[in-house]
Amino acid sequence: MIIRVDRSLCAGHAMCAVKGGEDLFPLDDDGFSVADGITVPSNKREFAIRGARVCPERAISLLEENTGKSVDLD
Ligand code: SF4
Repeated sequence: MIIRVDRSLCAGHAMCAVKGGEDLFPLDDDGFSVADGITVPSNKREFAIRGARVCPERAISLLEENTGKSVDLD
């Protein structure tokens, strides 16, 4: 699973890091996400989903590495 972040949508709420963990959802000095492109270890999938779901701007998507399909966040 790969984390994709649309930086044009990110508003710096930092909720992704709070719910998903800063290892998966690191932030820059201003609180904006720099998680785009991070590969999620298999034992952290639930944290990635949690972090992606909580984004108020829906700036985060998760892609399966093998199929390229988006993970359903609803
Ligand atoms: S929760 Fe969404 S808007 Fe907030 S920092 Fe994370 S990606 Fe950006």
